[in-house]
This record gives sequence, C-alpha cells and structure tokens, in this order.
Amino acid sequence: MQLQNTLNNINISEAFISFQGEGKYIGARQLFIRFSGCDVNCQGCDTDYSSKESFIFFDKIYYNPVNIFQFVEDIKGYDIFNEIHSISFTGGEPLLSLEAIKFMISSFGKKTKYFLETSGYHLDILKEIYDLLDIVSIDIKLKSTFGVDDNIYALKNAYFIEKNKSYFKLIVDNKIEQFEIANVVDLLKSKGFDEIYLHTKNNLVEFKLLSDIMKIFYGSGINCFFVPQMHKLVGIR
Ligand code: SF4
Repeated sequence: MQLQNTLNNINISEAFISFQGEGKYIGARQLFIRFSGCDVNCQGCDTDYSSKESFIFFDKIYYNPVNIFQFVEDIKGYDIFNEIHSISFTGGEPLLSLEAIKFMISSFGKKTKYFLETSGYHLDILKEIYDLLDIVSIDIKLKSTFGVDDNIYALKNAYFIEKNKSYFKLIVDNKIEQFEIANVVDLLKSKGFDEIYLHTKNNLVEFKLLSDIMKIFYGSGINCFFVPQMHKLVGIR
C-alpha cells in the first residue's frame, strides 16, 4: 500500500454517521470516512479496510477510486456539520490517503472539527498535517498483541505530538509482557502525557490482568481508562 499522493486514486471503504466507539471521545457522533488500505499487517486485525468496488453514503453509490470532488460536494449538500461532533478520518491507515484528507479539510474549512485515528507508524506523514487536525488518536502497538514491531521508540521521538490535541490508545491481550508496560509508561512520561485509554483485543477482558496493568499506570502517575469497544458491544458500526 503506497501513499496516495494524488486525488485521482483515493479508495474509500465506507462512509457513515455513527458514534465513536473507542478512546477519549467515546460516544461522540461523527461522520466516519474509512479509507481503504493499511500496511501494518497486525495479527488479528479486526477492521475491514479492503478496497471495495463501491460504497453507499446517504443512499448514493460511489465507485472507487472515488470522485473525491463530487463526494465532497455531496457532503456539503447534506448540511450535516451542525449535527456531528467531528469528521473521523479512519482506516486502515488514513494517513496513506493524505491528499484526500488535506482536500477535505480545505474544502470544509471551519464547518467542523477533524479527528484522525492512526496506527502510529506513519509519523512523517502525520507531522505534515498535524496542525490541520483538531484531535489525533494514536495507537501504541505492542508486539505481544499484534505480532508487529512496536512503535514506541518512533512515537517517543515524534516531538510534534502534543497532549493538547492527541491521546494514546493501548490495545492489550493476555500475552502482554511486563517490560512492554514499562516502555509505554516511559513513552508517556517522556512526552508529558498523563493519561492513556486501554482496550482489550476483541473486547476479551481478563479482569485481573486489566486491573494489574492499570495499577502500574496509576502508580506511575498516569490516569488509565479502560474503554471497551462500545460500537461492538451495542452492535453498531
Ligand atoms: S493498524 Fe489497524 S487497520 Fe492496520 S492492520 Fe493493524 S489493526 Fe488493522
């Protein structure tokens, strides 16, 4: 999956209005725009970010690669901005569709807020649009949970990430290692973050494990909030 650096090859997997199901803004009513494609290859990925031939939004069918100009004009016409908290650019990895995100932000201007959910790997791209975004949700990926190299060192060195517009999500399962928690604590403290949002993979909860992890965060001066993936619990997308 390559960075889409033109507006002619943008693939959107789905677009819909729903409630944010994870993290700090859980429950916020958002317009979700899910871009196709991700190059992280997490084991047990639960997101369908595959390229689709088409998607439906407000009863209209859009074929991929989408005519982004028409899509944006249509969204403007639906006049939904005073009925949502923000637009959520999600994926897959939405940063791979950088030009589409920039175009939408420049088209909609101050009509809404811009929320981006990223895997936390394409930090050079994130840096390029960080100032345009209002809220950035960043995953901390652990090898024990997803079988990929973690992104902790890279996040630590991404000095542009500030707590006034960003928060970190940590997804764990029962294979988590003690040293990984210590590394996450170190990351947060080095960046001056004092909170983290904890999810469990596939919403499988081992109470004692969660409790033990949270104790470590609180003992390190970090507020840790356990947040089940609400959209899955209530059966919405
Ligand atoms: S970063 Fe997210 S969308 Fe991409 S493979 Fe991992 S879990 Fe799936």
